[in-house]
Amino acid sequence: MPMPSLSPLASVPPAQRLPPPLRDCEPFADPSVADPALEAFLQQAAALLCRWLGQAGQGTPLPGLSVLPVVEPERAGLDSERLLADLQLVMEGAYNPNHPGALAHLDPPPLTASIVADLVCAGLNNNLLAEELSPSLSRLERALCAWMASRLGLPGGAGGVAASGGSLSNLMALVTARRQRGLACRGDAVVLCSEDAHVSLAKAVAVMGLPPEALVQLPVDAAGALEPLALESCLARLDRSATPVIAVVATAGTTVRGALDPLDTVATLCSRQGHWLHVDGAIGAIFAFSDRHRSGLAGLGRADSVTVNPQKLLGITKTSSLLLLADPSHLQQAFRTGLPYMEPSWGGGHQGEAGLQGSRPGEILKLWLGLRQLGLDGMAALIDGAVARRAELERRLRAIGGLALRGGPLHLIAFRPEGLDGPAAERWSIATRQCLLEEQLMLSRPHYRGHHHLKAVLGNPHTGPEQLDRLALVVQRSLMGGCGA
Ligand SMILES: *Cc1c(COP(=O)(O)O)cnc(C)c1O
Repeated sequence: MPMPSLSPLASVPPAQRLPPPLRDCEPFADPSVADPALEAFLQQAAALLCRWLGQAGQGTPLPGLSVLPVVEPERAGLDSERLLADLQLVMEGAYNPNHPGALAHLDPPPLTASIVADLVCAGLNNNLLAEELSPSLSRLERALCAWMASRLGLPGGAGGVAASGGSLSNLMALVTARRQRGLACRGDAVVLCSEDAHVSLAKAVAVMGLPPEALVQLPVDAAGALEPLALESCLARLDRSATPVIAVVATAGTTVRGALDPLDTVATLCSRQGHWLHVDGAIGAIFAFSDRHRSGLAGLGRADSVTVNPQKLLGITKTSSLLLLADPSHLQQAFRTGLPYMEPSWGGGHQGEAGLQGSRPGEILKLWLGLRQLGLDGMAALIDGAVARRAELERRLRAIGGLALRGGPLHLIAFRPEGLDGPAAERWSIATRQCLLEEQLMLSRPHYRGHHHLKAVLGNPHTGPEQLDRLALVVQRSLMGGCGA
């Protein structure tokens, strides 16, 4: 494979000297020439950003409290020099995902092509609401959604819409499912998922005007995956009581431990009884791009709808989520309102009528360019690398002994000392996280099954054996009381 000219993940500190300060930049770019002041402004901002990304490893992933610049606009507008100085202050207080010790969440370093596309997207300032405001981007979004759907195994004709995050994709999926099931007016309808499913489902149910009990959460097995027998008996019980089911939600990649629900078995149960299957694959669906790790996703292509969040592992800049449907026309049926102030669609329909959002940016641009930069090999390498790091960390933690490990087949692992009660586990998690932060390692502290855990997400390609060794050492020290818990 030829080496790309630019590493897709920013890691090289840029030249330290910045271009000379700018004199002035008009608030709007000159429409008659390539505006030299804007170009200089962009170059200066790019230099700041590259320096920030390139200094990640010298600081900590999570800076302490920083000075904020003045918040309100002054009477006279500021020149670009002042604006950049203000920007710098905000950047100094920002979480830095490019740090090799940034392991807390599903927020990896940004892909360089994705950064560039985001910038260009802002410059284009198109609007995915309607085709006349985003002619090429609307087509790109439809085409890329269709491609992604087919790669995930959905049937021909499948497609979807981009959304600003997985919470919104899940909400749109459930609203669409309810509409297709003819349950829009039923206050007694329910959504089924596992007890480890994402909190966005509870939000979705609330937004849909349903009581909290409408989200029926079923038990999981020892590996954190939905118990199919529990699902089967729950569906039978609901059938007997004539309780309508909006959808069954299976999770491909749970948020705390990366468990995969048994999609094929769940799909069979759903199709037998005609239930809508939504797969929340915000974390896991992307694993379909790895030959080595796609087997756990068998059955994904049988879903009626799938949420996928390329922002969570591939480094596509936030936000990047897709809602994909086996039959994307269901989206229009759920969300079409007519757009009386727009020219009629000349393509496949206005995206503003295929989802909940109205005006929104062409987020598809950074997904498209980022995936093109990585290539299929690069995507597989990112996924395989992340899983390998999880296995490496798991091996080190297992060797320490005395830890309850909650891992899965993906790139997440949560753990806590065995035998601590709830309050003691919480104290341990707080003290150990602090110890880790002092060693430039940032983990998160999820509350799971009545206990606080520490959780590592190994999606950061800058993380190497050095960080994993250090992490294991600090955890080992914490078990001997070395973190003051
Ligand atoms: C992160 C996550 C979501 C929500 O995605 P956002 O982009 O944060 O809104 C949904 N489901 C799962 C399983 C997730 O991990």
